[in-house]
Amino acid sequence: MSNKSLGNINFNFETVDVDDESNIELLELFYCHKCGFHSKVISVMWIEGDEINTITQLKNIKPGKTEFVEKIDQNIFKKEGRLIEENICGNCGKTGSIQTVPKTILEIQGVIIYDDDDGNRKEINNIKDK
Ligand SMILES: [Zn+2]
Repeated sequence: MSNKSLGNINFNFETVDVDDESNIELLELFYCHKCGFHSKVISVMWIEGDEINTITQLKNIKPGKTEFVEKIDQNIFKKEGRLIEENICGNCGKTGSIQTVPKTILEIQGVIIYDDDDGNRKEINNIKDK
């Protein structure tokens, strides 16, 4: 396993009109500024204004699917309000963010892209009609 950092991954080129996304399929992935894109994420959720009652869980955010690995800490939300979610890097512990990445970029890199939320890989998931 190589451990190279992605560093600055901004693509500084002209882009197509943002409104013209009809052919661009985007996937949501976790991005850590230190570690780059990877799947190991600690999700902390709470209701705005009530940071004591949090739900913390370990997630695997893979292209096309999110697996919930383990609940670390679960309280019950005691009030209603806006749900806040913070995604923390499971490698280094820094706060990261969810970024949208065009599916084609991942495909070019040979990344396995999962289909829906059923955990089956696309190539072996030929039972279900799309
Ligand atoms: Zn990290």
